[in-house]
Amino acid sequence: MGLGACIIWAGALIHSLGQKNKTTGVKSALGANAAVRLRRAARFARTRARELRMIVKALVSTKHPILVHIIPMRRCNLACTYCNEFDDVSTPVPLDEMKRRLDLLADMGTSIITISGGEPLLHPEIDEVIRHIRSRGIIAGMITNGFFLNQERIERLNRAGLEHLQISIDNVTPDEVSKKSLKTLDGRLEMLAQHAVFQVNINSVLGSGVKNPEDALQIAHRAVDLGFTSTVGIIHDNNGQLKPLGEHEQSIFEEIMELGKRSFSRFNEFQHNVARGREHNWRCRSGSRYLYICERGLVHWCSQQRGYPGIPLAQYSPEMRHREYSTEKFCAPRCTVSCVQQVGILDNWRDPQNLKPMPMDRTPRAPQTPELVQIGSAGEIQ
Ligand code: SF4
Ligand code: SF4
Repeated sequence: MGLGACIIWAGALIHSLGQKNKTTGVKSALGANAAVRLRRAARFARTRARELRMIVKALVSTKHPILVHIIPMRRCNLACTYCNEFDDVSTPVPLDEMKRRLDLLADMGTSIITISGGEPLLHPEIDEVIRHIRSRGIIAGMITNGFFLNQERIERLNRAGLEHLQISIDNVTPDEVSKKSLKTLDGRLEMLAQHAVFQVNINSVLGSGVKNPEDALQIAHRAVDLGFTSTVGIIHDNNGQLKPLGEHEQSIFEEIMELGKRSFSRFNEFQHNVARGREHNWRCRSGSRYLYICERGLVHWCSQQRGYPGIPLAQYSPEMRHREYSTEKFCAPRCTVSCVQQVGILDNWRDPQNLKPMPMDRTPRAPQTPELVQIGSAGEIQ
C-alpha cells in the first residue's frame, strides 16, 4: 500500500493519550467470540503499555528512529491510477535479508516498524517478518489493500503478533481509478471484526480525483460500526501542491474527523491545514526520527522523496541520522505526508534545523536508483 498511508503509529499515541479504542471489544464487532475479545483486550493492553514507553523514550532521547516504513515487496496485485509506489514484476525481498535489515533498525533503537509496499501480503514469508519485528521488541504494523485477507490469514497475523493494521478504501464501488472499494472489501472487514486481535484502522480519502466525496463518509461510518478506528486522507494532484478541498468536501472532512476522534489530527492542525491548502510550520525529522527503507534496503526521506539520501541501511550511521535531524527540509511547508509530521510533533518544540541537505552521494557505496527518484511529487496523506 502506498502513498504515505501511515496513520498506524498515530493510533499509538492517541490511545496512550486516553482515547478509547473500540477494537478492544466495546462493540464486540459482529459477534467476535469471547476468546477473540479476550485476546484482543490483552494485546491492546500490552501494546498500549509499549506505546507509552515509546513516547517516553522519544521525549527523553532524540538519537533513535521512532517510526520506520519498510518495503518487503514492491509488487502489488492492484494498479490504482494515482499510485507511484508499486510495480507488477518485482520479487519479494528474501526473508534473511529482511531480518538483517530489521536487526539493523532494532540496533538503532527503532520503536515502531510499519510494513508497507506494494502489497505486503504478497510476500510469502510476511508472518516471519512480523514475528521478527516483535522478537526485537518493536511495535509491528502493516498497511495492506486487504484483498488477500481471509480468516486463516487473519489468524496467522494474530499468531505472528501484528499490532496495527490499516486498510485504505477509496470508494464505495470500484471504478477505473481504484478497486479498493467498500463493496469489494466489506466481507473482509467483517472477517477482521470477527477474528483480528490487532487494532484495525480504515482510511478513506477525499480530494483530487475522488468522484464521490460522500463515499468517504459512508466508509468511515462502516468502519466505526465494525468497531474499527477511522481516518481520512487527502489526495492531491500529481505536483503534490496543497490544494484546498471544496466547501462540500471540507464539511465531509470535518464530519469524518469528528467521527474518528481517535485520530491524531485532533491534536494538531496539520490535516486541517492540508484540507484548506495552507502551508504548515513544522520540522520534518525524516532521515532521523522517521526512515523509509525501500525494497533495495536504501534509506529515503519518505515515500514521496525517494532517492535522497539513498544510502544503504547498513551504512547509515548515527552521524548521518543526527545530520538529517538538524536538516531543514525544503518540502516541509507544503508536505502532505502526515505520519512524518506526527512523528515530528515529538520534537517540534526543540532543536531548530539549521543544516541544508547534503549533496547527493554518487559513489559506489550508495548506488543510485534513478527509477525511484521522484522529488517533488506528493500524493495522499493519512
Ligand atoms: S493497492 Fe493501490 S495504492 Fe496500494 S500499493 Fe497497490 S496500487 Fe498502490
Ligand atoms: S517534508 Fe518532505 S521529506 Fe519530510 S515527509 Fe514531507 S515530503 Fe517527505
